[in-house]
Amino acid sequence: MDLSSDLFKSDILRMRDLFLKTSTLPHAVSEDLILAEFQKLLLYATSKSPWWKNYLKDLSDIGSYTSLPKILSDLPIMNPEFFAENSQSIFIPVPDARDAEYVTHTTRGLFHPPVSVKKYLTMAKMIYDAQTLVEWQWHERDIKKVIVYIRHGYPDQDLMEVGPPLTYLGTSGPAYLRNSRQHSPAELLDFMEDVQPAYLSLDPATLRELVVEQARVGYEIESLEQIFVTGAQLDDNSRLLAESLFGVNVIINRYEAQEFGHLATTCPGQQHLHTIASSIIFEILDDQDRPVLAPGQLGRVVVTDLHNYTSPLIRYEIGDVARWALPTGCGITWPAVSSQIERDDGWSQTENGEASGFSLFNVDFHNFRNLSDYQIIKFSDVLLFYYSAWPGLSSTQKNVIRENLKGLVSNVDEISFQPFSVAKPVPTGARLQVYQSPLPYREDWSQQELF
Ligand SMILES: [Zn+2]
Repeated sequence: MDLSSDLFKSDILRMRDLFLKTSTLPHAVSEDLILAEFQKLLLYATSKSPWWKNYLKDLSDIGSYTSLPKILSDLPIMNPEFFAENSQSIFIPVPDARDAEYVTHTTRGLFHPPVSVKKYLTMAKMIYDAQTLVEWQWHERDIKKVIVYIRHGYPDQDLMEVGPPLTYLGTSGPAYLRNSRQHSPAELLDFMEDVQPAYLSLDPATLRELVVEQARVGYEIESLEQIFVTGAQLDDNSRLLAESLFGVNVIINRYEAQEFGHLATTCPGQQHLHTIASSIIFEILDDQDRPVLAPGQLGRVVVTDLHNYTSPLIRYEIGDVARWALPTGCGITWPAVSSQIERDDGWSQTENGEASGFSLFNVDFHNFRNLSDYQIIKFSDVLLFYYSAWPGLSSTQKNVIRENLKGLVSNVDEISFQPFSVAKPVPTGARLQVYQSPLPYREDWSQQELF
């Protein structure tokens, strides 16, 4: 299908409307719909692939399940390591599809080997675009208003053309793109003072820098209505500061992952996020793999993609921890999670050898504008910080990273630094955790709605 055709546009708008409709269905009704969708996917996988038939052999008759929690509890949990090792077998080719009809999304592989998920392009794009438009609709954005995007991977553009799916909403107003690495926070705010955007889209680290500069100088930006944050979660303090300093009462956090696309987005009425139940099954599990039911209780995030028929991700443990939000009566029935979603890194060990998770949420070094990507590799004696930075990391920055990591990881005496361009050293001691294939820096999938 031609992805720029009117037919595609009308399909996506129809899909958006369908998603919006399902977001207010009574819980029991939507659970039945999700179960039916899920059974379709499982039946497809087992009928097309011997690997999948074997992987799901412990299920009783797939069509006989009448409860979503029951079928989920009968399925194994898949982690990224397992997915990476078995991705060839997991893949189910679409009949007669050419290579160009697939798209591969690769994770950064921060605490596990990078995972490449091959998707059927048309399907992946439709779902992603429809979800993006759901978010625009929920927050009643007007495509004609001025928007400023701040991104690290693209050059500046004035009066740029926004791409689909935003063009499906009408002729866009002035849109600007600024590269966050080529401008100081002062320059970015100065620019915003000139163009007076209604909407600002950026990553949380850049927003934190703008907040600090705005507190210091007080640029006259009167026009801002909404700030949307993608790529990582914004902490509550920065959110409150940004709200008061920029006079905005809507800050939208989008929780995304390369493997899936949208996972959750901020509620139009409240601070919690709603999981995108039209496309994914979002579970929060305790240490014994039991569903966490109580709001506020921390658990591991496990996600199933209902629409990826080429690389089915079924009960995939993404490596984050989250909590259900308190029920609020906001009118949207998609499950609500608290905005504090963090990365769970259970490989770290205490001195007794017990696993001790730690979180890299909100560490100081995430604010370094020159640091574009990194991996952390744990050897028995050394923690290796393997990074890409331009023009490099200063010794002060290395000390900040050192302090941040020492506060989080026990049992590590030394932290060494290695830029991506240098070949990875072979350790002489026992290896605890090694990632063999560091990737070149790639853009976030979250930034693709631009083009
Ligand atoms: Zn809500």
